[in-house]
Parts: sequence; structure tokens; C-alpha cells
Amino acid sequence: MSSRDDFTQEAKRRLAHRAGYRCSNPICRALTAGPSDATSDATTSIGVAAHVSAASPKGPRFREELSAEERSSIDNGIWLCQNHAKEIDDDPRRFPETILLAWKEEAERVAREEVGIPAGEAPYLVKVEAFAERDEGGRIIVFGKANLPNDTKLMISVRESGGGWLYGQDKCAVRHGAFSSKGFSDKGDPLPAKRYHIEIFSYFNVAWRQPEAVLSGVGSLGRRLIGPQVDKVDPEFEDSEKYVSAVFEFPVGNHPSSRSEGYSEGAALEAVKAAVLTVQGRGKSSEPVGKVVEWFLGVPGLKAKDGWSARELKDGVYEVVFSYWEGDSTSLAKWTVVAGSRQVTYENRNAKIMSYLSDEEK
Ligand SMILES: [Zn+2]
Repeated sequence: MSSRDDFTQEAKRRLAHRAGYRCSNPICRALTAGPSDATSDATTSIGVAAHVSAASPKGPRFREELSAEERSSIDNGIWLCQNHAKEIDDDPRRFPETILLAWKEEAERVAREEVGIPAGEAPYLVKVEAFAERDEGGRIIVFGKANLPNDTKLMISVRESGGGWLYGQDKCAVRHGAFSSKGFSDKGDPLPAKRYHIEIFSYFNVAWRQPEAVLSGVGSLGRRLIGPQVDKVDPEFEDSEKYVSAVFEFPVGNHPSSRSEGYSEGAALEAVKAAVLTVQGRGKSSEPVGKVVEWFLGVPGLKAKDGWSARELKDGVYEVVFSYWEGDSTSLAKWTVVAGSRQVTYENRNAKIMSYLSDEEK
């Protein structure tokens, strides 16, 4: 008897069907079924019901604690093309269970949305994630993930926080769901430690000369694109050209070799307490954060839990937290400080509330 816990034919068929007979890898989505030229009723399939956790003990992502039944259950399967079925088994560290299950969930969600929608009109939900870090030379590199077709051209711009002064722009292309910029600098010198406004954008009109394969993926003029990171060039018209615009704000610290000496967690904490912040939608606070927090502690039901604390996230970017009780539940207000520029920003909703007091309230 075999020691492999394989899927039944029925389970394989259901996995394929649930994924719309497409590879579940989000950057592939290849159709896995079609006709064969052999005879007029022959079929061909390049789909594989791959095991999330291996069918036998020496296989990738094998989990001893699963029963044979669980191992051969459809819940432990993912539908992939042959290439990606091989890739995930050759490199289980790059493709852990969590990633495969996320692919599967997304593939089934998309398939569900596409049922009954004419090809070429199905919505394409865009997701762009970005990060910024300094390289060895202190230049700022913007990199991330984008579920756009291979070779989609992107533009990356780096501005002052809030979208002001432009420090630089760079073109790059999506490769296998990822992108990375050149290093941004000030004529070779490192850009200052501060909060930056980073936009990743892409258009699909003639001027941008996107490859044909990209346009067939996102629709002409990006018309299939949907999601919070997609905008219309002219919002007044339903059939307007669309573009991708993903905006991020990050604090970027000092280069490790040019640390601002003498800055500490205590200094970061004092900087937050002393900061008089401008809060979106409300304006400039009449009191510094420390005083506003004190004022909130006078509100019934609110009391300090662990109170204030600070830690260095990395390279001169500090996180300052105030922990408190809100009735029976614990809450956190979070700010960041960039040591180089002493720039203080609220990072969550609680901190936004605790950063503002009007003249009448104080
Ligand atoms: Zn594939």
C-alpha cells in the first residue's frame, strides 16, 4: 500500500473547478484546461492538485499531526499549473503554508467574482504594497509587491510628507509581482531622515506604452482595474481612463553609519509629549500631546495602564506608545518620531484623538 495520502479524482476535480480551472498563483492565473489535438473529444490539462502540506513524510511542508483524511482533504489542496506546482515543492521555504492558503483564498474569491462576467471585463482588483529603506550608500530604495501583470511600467515618486517637495522620480517595471526603485539621493548625498510621501503610479494610455500583454490583462486604458488604489482620470465619466495610484507615508531613519548621536528613547518620548500637532480634519491642537493625554485621563472610564513607553524601531525611527484602559479593554495610542528631523506623527486613530484639543476644551 502507498504511504501517500493522495487526493481522490473527485477532490481534484472540485479543487480545479473552485479555482475556475486557473492556476491559483496570483501572478500566473494561467488557464489549465483545454482541448487536445489528438482526437475531436480529447482534452489536455496542465493543472495539478498540489498538496499544501505534503502527502508523505519526506515531502515539503509535511505536518505529522494531520490525519490521513485531513491530508487528502480538499482543504489541504491548491490548484496550480504544472510550473507552479513544481516551484512550490522545490522551494517550500519560499512558499510556506500561509502563502499557499492565501493564494487559494484569493483565487477562489476572484473565480467567484468572474463567474458569468464576459472575458476582458472581469474586474481586476489591484493591490500594491510598498516599503522604503536605505541601502549601504544611504540612498533610499522604494520596493514592494504589486499584483499587476509582468512588465507593467510603474513610476515611483518620493516627496516630502503630505505630498509637497519632490525629491525624485524613478521608472521601473513589475517582475513576478515585485518592484524596486533605484536609490534616491540628493545629488549623491543621503536624503534627510524624515517622513516621506511615496506614490507608486501607472497609466495605461498610449503615452505610457505599456506592453500588449499588460493591456490585455488590465483592459484598454485600465478599464478593468478596481480597488482603493485605482483612480479615474475624469471621475465624472463612468468609462473614464483609470490609473493606479498607491500612496504611502513612511518615516525613514538615518543611515546606520551617521546616527544622530545622543538621541534616545527618553528624548523621543519627550519629543512626542511636547509636540503640538496638526490633526487632519480638525486643525492645529491648542495643547501639546502630553497635555492632551492628561486631559483625556480626566474623562470617566479612561485611565493609564502601562502609560508612556518608547522604543527604537530602526535607525533612528522611534515608536512612542501610551497604553491605557478604556473601560475594561486596553488601548494603545501610537506615534513615531524620526530622530534626525524630530518629526512627530500620530500613527493610529487613538493617537489622532489624543493629539488634539480645541481652545474651548482645554
Ligand atoms: Zn501557474
